[in-house]
Amino acid sequence: MRALILGKGVSGRGAARLLRKLGVSFSFYQDGDVFPDLGSFDFAVKSPGIPINHKILRYLREKGTPVLGETELAYRFSQGNIISVTGTNGKSTTTAIIHSALKTNGYKSFIGGNFGIPFSEFALKTDEETISVIELSSFQIEDIISYTSDISIILNITPDHMNRYSCFSEYRRAKLKLIKNSELTILNRDDPELRSVKADQILFFSKKEKADAYIEEGKKILVNTKKGKAEIPLEELPLKGSHNLENYLASALALTAAGLYEEEIIKGLKSFSGLPHRTEKIAEIDRITFINDSKSTNPDSLKKALESFQNIILIAGGSDKGLDFKSLRPLFRERVKFAVFIGETAEILEKTFKDLVPVERAFSMSEAVKKAFHAAEAGDTVLLSPGCASFDMFKNFEERGEAFKREVLKLKRELEEKS
Ligand code: ADP
Repeated sequence: MRALILGKGVSGRGAARLLRKLGVSFSFYQDGDVFPDLGSFDFAVKSPGIPINHKILRYLREKGTPVLGETELAYRFSQGNIISVTGTNGKSTTTAIIHSALKTNGYKSFIGGNFGIPFSEFALKTDEETISVIELSSFQIEDIISYTSDISIILNITPDHMNRYSCFSEYRRAKLKLIKNSELTILNRDDPELRSVKADQILFFSKKEKADAYIEEGKKILVNTKKGKAEIPLEELPLKGSHNLENYLASALALTAAGLYEEEIIKGLKSFSGLPHRTEKIAEIDRITFINDSKSTNPDSLKKALESFQNIILIAGGSDKGLDFKSLRPLFRERVKFAVFIGETAEILEKTFKDLVPVERAFSMSEAVKKAFHAAEAGDTVLLSPGCASFDMFKNFEERGEAFKREVLKLKRELEEKS
């Protein structure tokens, strides 16, 4: 047996480790490499970053060589139950809440997928008792064949990745494919793209109306469990912001469906205190709060960040995915006092918002933080929520968030030394 692994990134390397443990020999291919002799491979493993219309996939199809996505490969060697989480935003947070809740209550759980740890890394460690909590991007869902979730969650579908899909409905279709490969699906009834979706086994959550999990009187989460209704007061939940309520509602339903008791669900949801780079408080300087939301890479996550704060000095912009920011104009008018735009999209953002708020451009994170601080007054929030991917100026969103943190903490130190 010999495999060709397409892509040398995190997923490709994860697949390689799995194949090595299985005793299957393999070679890697990525763009720029010498084109391999495709006749010498029994199957190929595709990393999610390889677009489905890549020429090598066409040649492999012509030769009749089976192509498995990395997630599909891992699935075929895994055991136990699977909870899959997708959506445009909130995937990592929800995946982490569910995994933390399971671990806290003593269940055997693994976390991975699009979360940074490929499923291939731990598929062979799973057994019948395991619950694997898998974050899936639309690119990973495109590639699944027999991969079946016991429970799957779709949090929301809003425009993103318009540089890879020809239109929004193609992106939506990719996400909804998850339902076909799922025993039970959990959907957000407040999302117009999801509320009328039909399937045999669906549970809905809602922030606005009664559903299988919902918010009662703006005070508590209510969810039906094995032994009756679980009630979770919102003030006891560590993650704030109305977008995190969606993540909690979806998690509560998944945990209920996985068979946890009321006390376990309550303890579980409280056990997780958040991931870095998602509306993360970094510092306070002269009563100005600094928030790092570097993981905000599309207009909807920027919208959710703007909804979470008042008197905002915004730092936004990054690589261009062909997304439209016009729908954020009312929120800008209401909440943003001043904006600093960076990266490839700075010009588009400037054109979209300059008649509403004062804007400036910056060419480095250091300059952006200085300009934002200069514009801020006591009581304001300096918010890095780019609404765009990071690849124009940084390796990834983590590097962008770390650069922001570093500059903020440097500024704080300099001011403390002066005083
Ligand atoms: P993903 O893995 O889907 O990118 P994350 O949990 O990493 O999701 O969060 C990405 C960004 O989206 C962050 O800016 C975060 O504050 C925001 N976010 C988190 N949950 C939601 C949600 N349910 N709806 C919209 N935005 C969200």
